[in-house]
Amino acid sequence: MAAVRNVLISGASIAGPALAHWFGRNGIRAVVIEKAPSRRTGGYAIDIRGKAIDVAMRMGVLDGVRAAETGIGGAAMVDADGRVRARLASGLVAPEERSLEILRGDLVALLHEAAPEAEYRYGTSISALEDRGDRVEAVFASGGTESFDLVVGADGLHSNTRGLAFGPERPYRRFLESYVSIATVPNHLGLDGEARLFNTPSRVAALYNTPRAAGAKALLLHRTAVESDVDRAAPAAQREHLREVFAGMGWETDRILADLDRAPDFYFDSVTQISMGAWSKGRTVLLGDAGYCPSPMSGQGTSLALVGAYVLAAELAARDAPEPALAAYERRMRPFVAANQGIAAPGLDFIAPKSAMGIGARNALLRSGPVLRLLSRFDSRLGKAAEAIDLDRGRA
Ligand SMILES: Cc1cc2nc3c(=O)[nH]c(=O)nc-3n(C[C@H](O)[C@H](O)[C@H](O)COP(=O)(O)OP(=O)(O)OC[C@H]3O[C@@H](n4cnc5c(N)ncnc54)[C@H](O)[C@@H]3O)c2cc1C
Repeated sequence: MAAVRNVLISGASIAGPALAHWFGRNGIRAVVIEKAPSRRTGGYAIDIRGKAIDVAMRMGVLDGVRAAETGIGGAAMVDADGRVRARLASGLVAPEERSLEILRGDLVALLHEAAPEAEYRYGTSISALEDRGDRVEAVFASGGTESFDLVVGADGLHSNTRGLAFGPERPYRRFLESYVSIATVPNHLGLDGEARLFNTPSRVAALYNTPRAAGAKALLLHRTAVESDVDRAAPAAQREHLREVFAGMGWETDRILADLDRAPDFYFDSVTQISMGAWSKGRTVLLGDAGYCPSPMSGQGTSLALVGAYVLAAELAARDAPEPALAAYERRMRPFVAANQGIAAPGLDFIAPKSAMGIGARNALLRSGPVLRLLSRFDSRLGKAAEAIDLDRGRA
């Protein structure tokens, strides 16, 4: 007998629908609520690596993922005039057969298709949770109160569920001293399945195009030790902040800044990890970025969400009470999460060196033979982290 029969999942992006898929297979009712008014489409390129590829295969979505790969063939590091200074071939940073890249919206669509039994409710949120010991009562912002055996917070970095069950975000935030923005802009450079990156110390501007989407994605990232609340400000204030930081930087940045005003999907946030002493409290548990965001700089957030959903569902199916299942989920996931969170700092140093010398050295390395050894060191760290969990162990 499974530990739970009736579950509320908050968040319908990656972690939520992935968990709903397994619940559907295990005959567990899943209600998935989403703050956005409808399923979110579009978005940036994300990676599925290592054990997450095995999970995608077990879910039956791997062929769909492969068919929707972004096809971005590598990146060129350019100078202020757009001249190529170095190249990063795809497949250098992670072994190609254990790493797939897909647009976030494409993955979300595949995961929703893979969880047809789930009951999706859009434009709503949990406004209060009352843990009664043998069930949780959830009050919805859209009205009404319902009882569930378990509530799963799969609502991302700034998780509402985490706030309700564990309190404010501050003690769990690990600010990686940078802010990132991404948006769809016109493809002025005519990029065709490729990426361009331009650096000045502590700043990077990048543009990439994938045949899977119109236009280009523009990414702006800057490093700063000063943690402000600009990530919680209105989009207009965030764009103004970006103008202050990036105006006059060179290359395409002024045009990107102008285009941001018209971008349909402007995204801005701090580069932050979530680090918590426990991921569950009573009958509320956190999954994906909500519990253990590794930050975009690890490139592993999607994989953690997919693997986390698999492990959580397996433990709930294998036990007849939620407490031991939640404890086993945490025990199995902790080392995997720690290894993948550990990749973010080197990732940040690689994409946004802090000095002109660091930028020159990275580009020189990319042009030289020893880089292969250097990258294979990073590669083995990333590759190892992506594989650092046994999907089948500890299910008894
Ligand atoms: C710029 C950028 C680049 C990235 N690049 C990569 C990459 O290359 N590789 C990689 O693996 N990962 C990458 N990531 C990270 C990846 O997107 C996340 O780790 C992944 O999406 C986590 O999935 P999730 O389902 O846990 O959370 P999310 O995808 O954040 O989803 C949370 C969902 O909850 C919803 N929600 C929020 N609040 C509420 C509420 N109150 N009530 C109901 N629903 C709510 C949200 O609308 C959203 O749909 C990147 C992230 C960013 C921002």
